[in-house]
Amino acid sequence: MKNRIMLFYPPGMLFQRGEDRCQQNIKDASAEAMRACNDLGYGAAILLKKGYEVKLRDYQTEGVSLPEMYAEFDAFKPDLIMMSITNTTIFDDLKLLKEIKEKYDPVIVIKGALFYDPEQEMLDLLDLSCVDYMIGGEVDFAIGEIADLALRGEGNADDILSILYRKEDGSFARTKFHVWGEDLDSRPFPARELMNNALYKRPDTDEPMATIQTGRGCPSSCVFCLTPVISGKCVRMRSPQNVMDELTECYEKHGIRNFFFKADTFTIDPAWVKEMCELIIASPLHGKIAFTANSRVNPLSKETLQLMKDAGCFMVAFGFESGSDEMLKTLKKGTTVEMNLRAAKWCHEVGLPFWGFFVIGFPWENREHILATKKLILQADPTFIEVKMALPFYGTPLYDAAKEFGLLAESPLGSDFFHSAMSGTKYLSQAEVEKLRKNILLSFYLRPKYIFRKFAECITKPRVFANYVKYGVKMLVNIIRH
Ligand code: SF4
Repeated sequence: MKNRIMLFYPPGMLFQRGEDRCQQNIKDASAEAMRACNDLGYGAAILLKKGYEVKLRDYQTEGVSLPEMYAEFDAFKPDLIMMSITNTTIFDDLKLLKEIKEKYDPVIVIKGALFYDPEQEMLDLLDLSCVDYMIGGEVDFAIGEIADLALRGEGNADDILSILYRKEDGSFARTKFHVWGEDLDSRPFPARELMNNALYKRPDTDEPMATIQTGRGCPSSCVFCLTPVISGKCVRMRSPQNVMDELTECYEKHGIRNFFFKADTFTIDPAWVKEMCELIIASPLHGKIAFTANSRVNPLSKETLQLMKDAGCFMVAFGFESGSDEMLKTLKKGTTVEMNLRAAKWCHEVGLPFWGFFVIGFPWENREHILATKKLILQADPTFIEVKMALPFYGTPLYDAAKEFGLLAESPLGSDFFHSAMSGTKYLSQAEVEKLRKNILLSFYLRPKYIFRKFAECITKPRVFANYVKYGVKMLVNIIRH
């Protein structure tokens, strides 16, 4: 009989569990939708190839209740389970896992950025008594080996990349960190036949949207970002043909026409982007599919943006972060305000809608820095914006700085981008930063010119109009509520 493995997100609030560097709280975000559970999908594909019986469930996005989840566990009786956790939900996640261990006694694997070569001080905050393995690195380079070891007695724990495993004396040993699997083309595509693809939607049109991981890693050193820590500073890209094959499979097998190209920085290698876009343009899918992607503002060119648009890009997202050169330098972003404005200008010229992501409340920020960000937002005039509060993830230089300046709550666990663990900046209280955040969002979204433009854009598209209204109301409710 085959061993049974359950990969799942638990019932509860919506979090971007599969995206380690982001772990977004979806309910409190302005206009972001849940993205596909690719971490579970990759894990499932690997395990299916190895001959395990696999169930994959995103209970949180399906809105499944705890009793319903338990009914499925009763029927499936998993031998091994893997839950994807976030820094915010970790305490509730561990409570649930303890219950599951008592009821079914499976091997318990948890996966999350938190476990990437973690500080012992942080692990000591958690009750990990029910946990057998922690994956801090990339699921698809670890879960198959863990299952073979735990269920078939094959392999050696120390050979598995970036995990912690329980030893016989009850303590945890850690394996090799800061080494990454290189050959991304060798990974199977996520097992979308097990995923409920209709759950993950393009925010404006509500059509199913698949996430396609095109690359991993980023050479930049932004002080607040987990990517260089968990995915490394060396960029590993899939070959454009391998990405094209996955797009084709999504389109032909699953009827998916919209895609989020997930790379830590999609445009980091202009030659790769060119090859990818030209491949799409030359393919039978051209004109039938659309995609969105994230980008740095540097390196970038107007030609790259034009080519992306020609290939079907409907939106590009920039992490502009700040409107202050002093702050961009402190954050080690490797960009300037001028570059931010230049990228925005090119998007307007090319006619490519763009998201602007900004972060405020860094320890070094005063009111002038944040007002400079507001000025940049109004000048750049993105299609949509999100303003997040600086969040000190364990393992980042931002965490060290917040700790050094005494601005950190007892533990950053349990916090998120809209409920940061920081007590403010060196110059502003957290309440003042939050007030500035609300002011920026309202000043941007309630401009009559903006509302009129959005209205004109979607008046002939009822579905898009309904979604704009839905997200607009949600944003206002969030602003009033906090
Ligand atoms: S550019 Fe900065 S924020 Fe973006 S992925 Fe790289 S390190 Fe992270």
